[in-house]
Amino acid sequence: MPDRRTLLRQTAELAADFLDGVGTRRVGATATHDDLVAAFGGELPSRGEAPGEIVSDLARIADPGLIASAGPRYFGFVIGGSLPSALAADWLTSAWDQNAGLYSIGPAASVAEEVAAGWLVELFGLPAGSSVGFSTGATMASFTALAAGRHRVLERAGWAVEEDGLQGAPEIAVVVGAEAHVTIHVSLQMLGLGRSRVHKIEADGQGRMRPDRLREVLAGLGDRPVLVCAQSGNVNTGAFDPLPEIVAAVRERPNAWLHVDGAFGLWAAVSPSLRHLTDGLADADSWTTDAHKWLNVPYDSGIAIVRDAAAHRAAMTLGAAYYIETGGAERDPYNWVAESSRRARGFAIYAALRELGRDGLIAMIDRCCAIARRMAEGLRDAPGVTILNDVVLNQVLVRFASPATDRSSDGASEPDPAVVDAFTRDVIAAVQADGTCWLGGTTWHGMAAMRISVSNWSTTEADADLSVAAIRRCAAQVGSAVRV
Ligand SMILES: *Cc1c(COP(=O)(O)O)cnc(C)c1O
Repeated sequence: MPDRRTLLRQTAELAADFLDGVGTRRVGATATHDDLVAAFGGELPSRGEAPGEIVSDLARIADPGLIASAGPRYFGFVIGGSLPSALAADWLTSAWDQNAGLYSIGPAASVAEEVAAGWLVELFGLPAGSSVGFSTGATMASFTALAAGRHRVLERAGWAVEEDGLQGAPEIAVVVGAEAHVTIHVSLQMLGLGRSRVHKIEADGQGRMRPDRLREVLAGLGDRPVLVCAQSGNVNTGAFDPLPEIVAAVRERPNAWLHVDGAFGLWAAVSPSLRHLTDGLADADSWTTDAHKWLNVPYDSGIAIVRDAAAHRAAMTLGAAYYIETGGAERDPYNWVAESSRRARGFAIYAALRELGRDGLIAMIDRCCAIARRMAEGLRDAPGVTILNDVVLNQVLVRFASPATDRSSDGASEPDPAVVDAFTRDVIAAVQADGTCWLGGTTWHGMAAMRISVSNWSTTEADADLSVAAIRRCAAQVGSAVRV
């Protein structure tokens, strides 16, 4: 049996081997579900095995089932990669095995969070003193922030929800943009507010909440407590809800809470050239973002930020909901998320922020957006291509009409949408099979579309150009097959 040092060195070599190849390997997986089950499966071993053999075997059998999302040409979801220091800090996090529930059982873990929290609030331009919880992802961050909102609006209505629950409580009206991410509805489901029992506000052509419709809906809610969920960064278009108008409408009400889901879009607030998209952000009550998306730290790493720290703490603490903190400056992380024992997520975030610095972070966000625009421009003049969205951030939606249906050039009748949908899906499948890059499909306002998301620190213009060439080639091949 190898000693531990040998094992960890061997593991570091395996990890480096993978990362050395991640920019050139096929981006999609090659193994099927059956292949992977056959490779991983078998009887539960009755006798233990040698760690070195397990690790090398794991690296070998997992490999064909790995997606190169850590690499530069994965554009499928807003997924990001891992900055080198964040990956390394994450290794140390595992080696240290700290419990980030309480200061007393993980002092360094707690302080890494405390410092990272302050830096993040400053970077996003949010109110000083806002509280921060480090969650698994944006889903639990929105759960956390909306729990804080639920606490405060019910407290103002004379109800202690943490003690007495929702049964018999004053009814909260929940108002959500029609294009809110599904995880907002899941948060509401877990909070007892109902995933469907919401007022949905129509969106405009780019997926932004319409403030005129919001005003109409709010006007019909009487004096009920209200939770409003807006979005910074639509998963399809990258568009931002118009926060100045939304804030103005929400602030006219005596008892309302405004949450903003900015799982990836919040990072625009860091960049001087993009910040205008998030105007009004600092006037909301709570915010969600993900570090495992655009900060490029490993999973899992979501962030909940709440202006009203007392509401945040009351909603999440394991202690008494109305306990007033008097002593010590130490942060007990269990007061700010729905977990007690957990991974020390702060170390990787802290490392990533130091690796980039403010300037490096701005450069990375701006570069991803420039690459998205470059890919949109590289595809725009391909036969049959329509770019469906205004490329304001890192998202591009592309629709492909086959040569047989693309009559737009000769002014004849519009192509049949169902045929264009099918052709678009065929092009996406062909690009996935080609393996140069990976991106997925979506349905945007009833139309099938290819969705390109750029969020990896290591993606270059050359990766964008290679990927555009692959997409154009695949579209031409699928097109010539249709014509035959
Ligand atoms: C990705 C995303 C989420 C969900 O984030 P997880 O980290 O997967 O929980 C929520 N909202 C938006 C806008 C997203 O892009």
